[in-house]
Amino acid sequence: MAVRYKRILLKLSGEALSGKTGFGLDVDTIQEICGGIKAAHELGAEIAIVVGGGNFWRGRSSGEMERTRADQIGMLATAMNALAVADALEHLGLEVRVQTALNMQQVAEPYIRNRAIRHLEKGRIVILACGTGNPFFSTDTASALRAAEINADIIFKATMVDGVYDKDPKKYPDAKKYDTLTFSRVLNDKLAVMDSTAATMCRDNRLPILVFDILHPENIAKAVSGETIGTLVSE
Ligand code: UDP
Repeated sequence: MAVRYKRILLKLSGEALSGKTGFGLDVDTIQEICGGIKAAHELGAEIAIVVGGGNFWRGRSSGEMERTRADQIGMLATAMNALAVADALEHLGLEVRVQTALNMQQVAEPYIRNRAIRHLEKGRIVILACGTGNPFFSTDTASALRAAEINADIIFKATMVDGVYDKDPKKYPDAKKYDTLTFSRVLNDKLAVMDSTAATMCRDNRLPILVFDILHPENIAKAVSGETIGTLVSE
């Protein structure tokens, strides 16, 4: 079957990996998500994954701590998540490489763009950890940056809601879901898709983002094959 998107960058938030507890790692949840990734891979997609770290730590909510240091802790949190996802994918028989934006050579490869692309071409899943390697950024921005670098066709932002709404659907039952959106609208209306740095990077580099819910991991394969799910944000 022909795929709609050949090379995708999948953003997995830390929260998605934590199951019902919202903190730490939930092995069953991670296995389910990885089953969804495998199904998408079997369709022929090349998959790079950027993992978040919010299930352990977010620099911006660290109170008194110096922000740079707080963000370094956040970046290390993403590395733990990357290893957990790598392990689950390997258990499913997939070939995986973890690359980190901060050097930790005993644990993973350093991020090298050309090498990441080579892995993808060979059918390996590449997991990108430690965000951009810089404080004051988010893993959403890292997703935009890496997607642009590896010439991804699209970013899949797998979240806990099934798309982008005009207001928080958990608080407002009358919230309206968008099927499509432009980046200008996202930025002007401050819609909670991703932070503005990430949204601006996607807009400037003509990178679409599909936002959908990861509570149904089969959505990843559906999205790869072009089924209409979630909210598509594009130019
Ligand atoms: N972080 C950072 N630079 C980056 C990416 C992430 O400093 O390029 C830190 C930041 O503290 C952030 C934390 O890592 O809060 C975890 O990432 P994020 O909040 O994006 O994770 P998510 O909310 O997607 O789980």
